[in-house]
Amino acid sequence: MTSPLALLGGTPAVANSGPHFTWPPIDDITRAKVLAQLDSAVSVPGRSGIVADLEDALQDYFGARHAITTSSGTAALHASYWAARIQPGNEVIVPAWTFHATASPLFHLGAAPILCETLPAGNIDPARVAELITPRTRAIMVTHLWGKPADMTGLTALAKDCDLDLLEDGSHAHGASHGGQKVGTFGLAGAFSLNGPKPLSGGEGGFVLTDDDDTYYRILTFAHYNKRARKEIPQGHPLARYAVTGAGLKLRIHPLAAALAHDQLTRLDAYLAGREEIAAYLTRELSQVPALEVTPVPEGVKSSWYALTATYQPDQLGGLPTDRFHEALVAEGATEFDLPGSTRPLNQLPLYQHPSHPSYLFPGYPNTHSRCRPGDFPIAEKAHTHTIKLPVWHREQDLDLAEQYVSAARKVSEHHKELL
Ligand SMILES: *Cc1c(COP(=O)(O)O)cnc(C)c1O
Repeated sequence: MTSPLALLGGTPAVANSGPHFTWPPIDDITRAKVLAQLDSAVSVPGRSGIVADLEDALQDYFGARHAITTSSGTAALHASYWAARIQPGNEVIVPAWTFHATASPLFHLGAAPILCETLPAGNIDPARVAELITPRTRAIMVTHLWGKPADMTGLTALAKDCDLDLLEDGSHAHGASHGGQKVGTFGLAGAFSLNGPKPLSGGEGGFVLTDDDDTYYRILTFAHYNKRARKEIPQGHPLARYAVTGAGLKLRIHPLAAALAHDQLTRLDAYLAGREEIAAYLTRELSQVPALEVTPVPEGVKSSWYALTATYQPDQLGGLPTDRFHEALVAEGATEFDLPGSTRPLNQLPLYQHPSHPSYLFPGYPNTHSRCRPGDFPIAEKAHTHTIKLPVWHREQDLDLAEQYVSAARKVSEHHKELL
């Protein structure tokens, strides 16, 4: 007897072969805007032209006093830590499960990322943060994993009580909000990526939001030396005399990336509204599939739906391993189902396990933090190994594709015995 499963020779559940999800959406208006930029300026050293337009639009959208563009999200995070005066020997509490760039810039500042256990849904657990605070702790960094805001009520109160700076990595979560407030605006600074697949994309790029003037001048010093720093840092400010060189790095966004991001920002709310509809459909339908559990978004929380995540429960399918279940989904043509690769518990990464040896990435860096062995963060690690994620479409016409993906999941689940 042949199996209906595509992995075993059957007909795939998803009719066309894809790609099924491309990002960012680019139309003729986008093309015209980027081409116009190509003709007007491909280098913008000051806060003028498309860079000023994008920063103004970001300030309006987020309701922030300052938005400063950078060359990447990694650069935005690095600048934010430096602007927050993170120094050698300081500790910064970071989620154990995030993309590594949330915390990796700390190695360059001689500071220690202190990994913190997450809640089963992936965001940092405020109760665990409280347990990790020491006299060396200077700040808490929060990622809003897959676009779902972390518990900002608990984290804001904790940071305030303990006199720590709260920093955010909003790279998955442009436009997401908690209690009506957009993420990236809760603490001293919010850093964002504008990289390819992110909810707001310039292809490459990043930005930092802050309401604090001094933090703004520090970020200019870190990322925008010479013309811009000279023009914007007031005479008499202690950093003004460093304006020509800044701190030695130059981390500006490319004007063509700024033009793309500027175009995309005008559409962001429409993207998010469309995703909300399809995410509601996927949440409802995938929850009905035995073996998949989709946690609903709590009241008062709005996700950007960078990804919809389901927790796979192998015991529901006779112990069928996650990767075998995933392989069967992909064979069904549901190729956008993905097991998170680079966004993984940081204690599993060599950079975090051995920052100073054996290959001398950071010679002399103190190997003080012992909690970087596999198994040190059982909740985050278990959640990571059982997570299957899916990008969320935003156009009504993609609902048909979403339905085919649901059928694929149902089919693999129904016929799982053939894979055991
Ligand atoms: C993408 C990403 C970054 C890094 O941004 P780049 O623009 O690629 O440098 C940092 N943190 C998170 C959570 C990300 O998803």
